[in-house]
Amino acid sequence: MELKRNASLREYTSWRIGGKAEWLAEVKDKQELKKAVEWGRKRGLPITILGGGSNVLISDKGIEGLVILNRKGKNFSQEKKEGKVKVVVESGVNLAWLLKELFAQGTTGLEKFVGIPGTIGGAVFNNIHGKDGYLFAEVVKEVEVLTPEGKVKNVSRRESEFAYDFSRFQKSGEIILAADLVLPQTPLEEAKKVVKEWGKRKVLSQPQNSAGCVFKNLSEEQQKRLGLPTASFGYVIDKILGLKGKRIGGARISEKHANFIVNETGKAKAAEVMALIRLVQRETEKKLGFTPQLEIFLLGSFD
Ligand SMILES: Cc1cc2nc3c(=O)[nH]c(=O)nc-3n(C[C@H](O)[C@H](O)[C@H](O)COP(=O)(O)OP(=O)(O)OC[C@H]3O[C@@H](n4cnc5c(N)ncnc54)[C@H](O)[C@@H]3O)c2cc1C
Repeated sequence: MELKRNASLREYTSWRIGGKAEWLAEVKDKQELKKAVEWGRKRGLPITILGGGSNVLISDKGIEGLVILNRKGKNFSQEKKEGKVKVVVESGVNLAWLLKELFAQGTTGLEKFVGIPGTIGGAVFNNIHGKDGYLFAEVVKEVEVLTPEGKVKNVSRRESEFAYDFSRFQKSGEIILAADLVLPQTPLEEAKKVVKEWGKRKVLSQPQNSAGCVFKNLSEEQQKRLGLPTASFGYVIDKILGLKGKRIGGARISEKHANFIVNETGKAKAAEVMALIRLVQRETEKKLGFTPQLEIFLLGSFD
């Protein structure tokens, strides 16, 4: 485990935004992850896990306590059985890397998640949605976690309380160590076609200097009540609020996809992104009568 004091975090995020970590530990597998957590807990430090940093806004003031950077994992195994493949994979493994490694061994089943940056830990934590709204929960059988009391235990898919952009891990304080996935098998050539076509579409329609969609899409009930043709919150920002392209400092609501905020200058501050977020929230409250929920996670203090 590599330990640093007052380490800059911006380069570990897809937004390239954020202050420093009081302590930063970089780990390469789940044993090191457990050790790092133990090290922090012994000293009474608050602990934050950072995977790929592709779904977080880190405060300009940084993060107090220990940040554990868990993105170097390479450990996974697979077992083929009755047309499905069981994959056991550690949380610090990069999702895109795993997809490729599995393809190389003739295993499919992750292709609908092509183009989504980040780690397996992040994918489980947020229950990511891929092509056609396919949820990561569909392929999760069990999750191995470290509890706030320091115990390792397995949480089943049902107990994980997966919903759209949600899992119990967002409120339980459990740290995701590994996941058991069950991958339905589609023919390799078909899966490769999905990767090529959907991957290309994502790159063309979504800016990379971002953290993905900032706000959650509308619920069915909200869409119906407002009589909108789509649940896309990007549509709301563009067509109803008229805020597509709005800029504050170095941050801007993307012209390509209005639910994305980009670090246009490369020097945007978290406070500028936050000002855009608050503007969208205020305007939505004024025009539609509700506060849109964030899809990204805020790390550090934003008072
Ligand atoms: C260009 C782009 C496109 C995207 N497209 C999509 C998309 O199509 N669908 C989609 O759903 N998302 C999308 N995203 C968002 C993002 O890629 C996913 O949410 C991703 O799964 C985040 O994983 P991460 O490892 O980067 O998590 P991070 O950003 O590092 O962390 C996110 C949250 O998870 C927590 N966390 C991470 N690992 C663990 C762990 N091991 N244990 C406990 N907590 C943990 C962190 O503390 C943090 O609160 C996109 C992002 C970008 C930049």
